[in-house]
Amino acid sequence: MSRPIVEMTSIAPTVSALLGLPAPSSCRGAPIAEIVAGGPAERVAIVAPDALGEYAWGLWQSAMPFMQSLHARHSLTVRSVMPSITPVNFAAMVTGTDRAGHGIGTWRDAFACETLFDVVRRAGGRSAGVGMRGYTGGELLAPRGDIPGRVEEHADDAVADRVLAIARTEQPRFIIAQLGCVDDTFHALGPSSPDVVPMLRGTDARYRRLADGLLAAGYVMIVVSDHGQHDIPNPPPGGKRGTHGTDSDQDCLVPCTWTRA
Ligand SMILES: [Zn+2]
Repeated sequence: MSRPIVEMTSIAPTVSALLGLPAPSSCRGAPIAEIVAGGPAERVAIVAPDALGEYAWGLWQSAMPFMQSLHARHSLTVRSVMPSITPVNFAAMVTGTDRAGHGIGTWRDAFACETLFDVVRRAGGRSAGVGMRGYTGGELLAPRGDIPGRVEEHADDAVADRVLAIARTEQPRFIIAQLGCVDDTFHALGPSSPDVVPMLRGTDARYRRLADGLLAAGYVMIVVSDHGQHDIPNPPPGGKRGTHGTDSDQDCLVPCTWTRA
């Protein structure tokens, strides 16, 4: 089944529209009509499974029944901005513009434009970026939020725990989180390897837990990846089996779904 394709630059204005706030000032995308049609929201959380692209989703979605149940109701395809790497696309999610506009090539760079964190703060609200130390979530996003979101433990469950704790106790208007171990597993094993399935089953259970907690705390939860991955043909022994960064559909097309109470 082919689904509508929207641009990664549409995520930020969608969050703004849901929250009833202006889009970040350098935003180039338009709000995603299918998501905004659900009406305004007091709180929005983006939880991104890093590198879970359409390619791997197409192969392994039967191992992710909860995610399938979300896509059965709401499903889009999003196209990453170039290059199809993590900091560039998380920066696009929070600014609505591409690398030339937001200035982020690595997580050490400074934003060259306004972000959703700024927009929410200017409106008197608070936000949080959540992710592991040494990853875009912990290094690029967490310092921009108002609530500490950098996770020291190297585990996606620790990221999910932090998201749920922040949602329950602080209730900021905007949360964005990165589940970075998904990308690590695809790099190590290759996105088409059946060996990735146990990780995806765990990820699916994590999303069920995230949805339960986030919806109870009044959030719209958006699930969208930053980029996909493709298999490395004939990898050297012990070498990486998956990668990304090109403009291919395998690297750039990612599934998006959302849910709300
Ligand atoms: Zn990667």
